Amino acid sequence: MRNVIILGSGCAGNTAAIYAARANLKPLVISGHEPGGQLSITSLVENFPGFPEGIDGPVLVERMKQQAEHFGAEYIAGSVTEADLSRRPFRLHVEGEWMETRTLIIATGASARWLGIESEQKLIGKGVSSCATCDGFFFRDKRIMVVGGGDTAMEEALFLTRFGRDVALVHRRDQFRASRIMLDRVLEHPKIEVITNTVVDKVFDADKGFVSGVRLRNVATGEVTDRDVDGLFIAIGHIPNTKPFAGQLDLDGDGYILSKGGARTSAEGVFHAGDVQDRTYRQAITAAGAGCMAAIEVERFLEHHGY
Ligand code: NDP
Repeated sequence: MRNVIILGSGCAGNTAAIYAARANLKPLVISGHEPGGQLSITSLVENFPGFPEGIDGPVLVERMKQQAEHFGAEYIAGSVTEADLSRRPFRLHVEGEWMETRTLIIATGASARWLGIESEQKLIGKGVSSCATCDGFFFRDKRIMVVGGGDTAMEEALFLTRFGRDVALVHRRDQFRASRIMLDRVLEHPKIEVITNTVVDKVFDADKGFVSGVRLRNVATGEVTDRDVDGLFIAIGHIPNTKPFAGQLDLDGDGYILSKGGARTSAEGVFHAGDVQDRTYRQAITAAGAGCMAAIEVERFLEHHGY
């Protein structure tokens, strides 16, 4: 029987683990299918306070883990495939084994949706990114492309005009999900070219290990063109990792956990931290803050219930 199990080992999960471990709760962290979370697929992080020269994302998240382990947190690899949150202790099915815990922190994040083509996958963190706030700065005076037709794509394209020489926005249809106001800002921006009815078929150059261009295909005409690009930002949505909790916790229409105030969820004793609930800020520092909040809630909950 655990006092607390933390699902996810990104910024939110690791920070929750640091706090819970320092409160002597001996937390168990289940690392999840993307150990280290979103930071593990970025390069230099320049906006996490305390690192004036920046720090590599994977290094930052590994140091958080070491800090948690130093205070007694335990980590195991694996993911939760099934959960019973209907009564306490909660039961979790992890890699063929059922585990029990008095409280649970869900910090499983939201995974960026990718195009899924092989060349894109090979260049993630090497010119292909899913986060303009994180990586835009590295493309000062470069040619940037954003893929997507929703508000995120609009926001990222507009943000990236601060850095790029030019920004091309590529969308697979000629109708946009984005709000009118965001779309208008993009259409009116002198630095942004909007390319509709078009998909990215290939990213160059996986062999060289950096992005040098893309192959585009117009889905209406079938025409194929190659275009020089230095940075490719994929902004086609995120998928919150909440599948095992569907039907057991209040989720919104897209599967994000609905907060019941602070770090609380609709199930007493289950808390959320980070991107699994946050579709707005999605930053390392906000996820870390949310992890801290969840751990403090756990501490108070256990104390209140006499553990
Ligand atoms: P959305 O789901 O709104 O948009 C995703 C976009 O990506 C769509 O245009 C979709 O195309 C496209 N897409 C999906 N899969 C693929 C694919 N495989 N290949 C090519 N294109 C693809 O996600 P967002 O992240 O943009 O927004 C999520 C939510 O957050 C929305 O509710 C949005 O309004 C909100 N948001 C609000 C902001 C604000 O108000 N400032 C900022 C950012 C987000 P298609 O349309 O053809 O399906």
